[in-house]
Amino acid sequence: MVTASSVGTSGMGLVVMGAEGRMGRALIAAITESAGVRVAGAVERTGSASLGMDAGTLAGLQPLDVQVTDDLEAALSVADGLIDFTAPTASLQFAEVAARLGKVHIIGTTGFDAEEEAQLPNLAAQGAVIVKSGNMSLGVNLLGKLVEQAARSLDADFDIEVVEMHHRHKVDAPSGTALLLGEAAALGRNIDLRANAVMSREGITGARERGSIGFATLRGGSVIGEHTVILAGEGERIELTHKAQDRSVFARGAVKAALWAKDKPVGYYSMMDVLGLS
Ligand code: NAP
Repeated sequence: MVTASSVGTSGMGLVVMGAEGRMGRALIAAITESAGVRVAGAVERTGSASLGMDAGTLAGLQPLDVQVTDDLEAALSVADGLIDFTAPTASLQFAEVAARLGKVHIIGTTGFDAEEEAQLPNLAAQGAVIVKSGNMSLGVNLLGKLVEQAARSLDADFDIEVVEMHHRHKVDAPSGTALLLGEAAALGRNIDLRANAVMSREGITGARERGSIGFATLRGGSVIGEHTVILAGEGERIELTHKAQDRSVFARGAVKAALWAKDKPVGYYSMMDVLGLS
């Protein structure tokens, strides 16, 4: 069995990518608070103001004696894996490095296009244990299973719409979680999401196409992430909702994924695998 390589020091050593970001800081805190893992490195892009800072201080914690660097390879050479909530092009580059060095790569980044997404399983096959999910929380992954079941139980007389709201800084839409939930609904209906999705509506759109899966995106304030899947029939409506109140739910899920991935064979996995929901 080919597994990711281990550096063999106490606790799984994890490098936090995009350490200065909202999720980067939440990850440093979650790793510090979790048993069996340690912050082995913190990486930001070249030119970032946080380079050289202590990772603990950056996250508002006690110093961890780990300086923020722009050298991923050096950081990863003394670690077991990396947790990466950054940007699609960056995550693809990091996956190449993880495969070359034989490491665990947890990807929370969203906004990949179909072509970028398709590269990830191939990169994993070259030597990394990749776990990727548009949402690392237990609640959303469970919601995905419930949506799949509801979509399977109710036929196309029930129109499916996915509504999401996030903070004003979010750069991609619909959210990775909205797409995850749309995929779950499509799986339940046994249809292809891309061929049946209506990502937005404007102007004279005509009547709703039977069997399509609609998306609506709201942005504003500091909302961490709220998703509702609506199944609307004649005279009745079912709404399945998840509300994240704190980024730590995603960070703790990512740590859980890293620990799960530690001794898994090289390959491409999802949070459903980690949580035993697949
Ligand atoms: P953010 O605050 O903008 O943080 C992203 C960080 O990554 C920034 O510090 C950014 O640096 C850094 N970065 C980008 N490219 C880099 C590179 N090549 N090398 C090193 N660092 C790089 O965004 P966020 O709110 O933390 O979200 C990050 C990603 O996670 C988004 O895709 C978001 O949708 C996703 N997310 C996923 C989940 C989940 O559960 N899967 C949950 C929450 C968020 P610069 O500022 O210099 O660009």
